[in-house]
Amino acid sequence: MINIANIDPKLISATKHEVATATRILAREKMIGPFGHPSSRIPGTDLVAILGDTHFSVKLLTEVTEDDIALIDLDGEPLDPEISGPGERFIHTQIYRARPDVFSVVHAHPMYCIAFSVVDRPLLPLWHLCTEVSQGVPVHMKSIQIDSPQLADELAALLGHRSFVLLHAHGSVAVGESMATACVRSVSLERSARLQSIAETLGSTKPIDSRELSETGVSQGLTQAEINAQWDYWKIEAY
Ligand SMILES: [Zn+2]
Repeated sequence: MINIANIDPKLISATKHEVATATRILAREKMIGPFGHPSSRIPGTDLVAILGDTHFSVKLLTEVTEDDIALIDLDGEPLDPEISGPGERFIHTQIYRARPDVFSVVHAHPMYCIAFSVVDRPLLPLWHLCTEVSQGVPVHMKSIQIDSPQLADELAALLGHRSFVLLHAHGSVAVGESMATACVRSVSLERSARLQSIAETLGSTKPIDSRELSETGVSQGLTQAEINAQWDYWKIEAY
């Protein structure tokens, strides 16, 4: 068991605050609530700050604070007996085990992403703020809750090196090297899915040209400045 006394409390507090901020943003976007959860590694440790199991709470997710964020280890065990991680915490722990480059994970239940998980139609690069979908967004074809390390390992393997994976008839997972990146990616994926749903009812779509994507490098996704600008703006809205 990790001794929490050896970790700088300011580091834990700052990480919990970022997870609380992502929770507020995702709840405002109607992507989580009461189910769904963002998480972040505590820097330099094998600990994860994750939205606590609030399913039976009467508190709005748009109002969560650091006090609502649980600390768990990579086995999913809580370090504070009073606040445990959600049932689907293994989505987070197993991605962190598989992807040392990933610092933050968002699992959400957004309706347009779920719509694309149940049709044989790929998400296309139709929006300049979500061109990463051109790398492909796989769908994990099991609709049950991911409540075991074994199921989560399957999901992490399907995610591979990518930023996104969809869960059939269930939701989405986005990852990133910071809470800001994972949160902005998660929201952008849902907005892009909504845009595509609208556009495809209007007529045949014209995705961003693959040569333009590769020549400009935008297939690599948003720049850090673009991520920070959105995260900082949404933070103002959230508090
Ligand atoms: Zn879920």
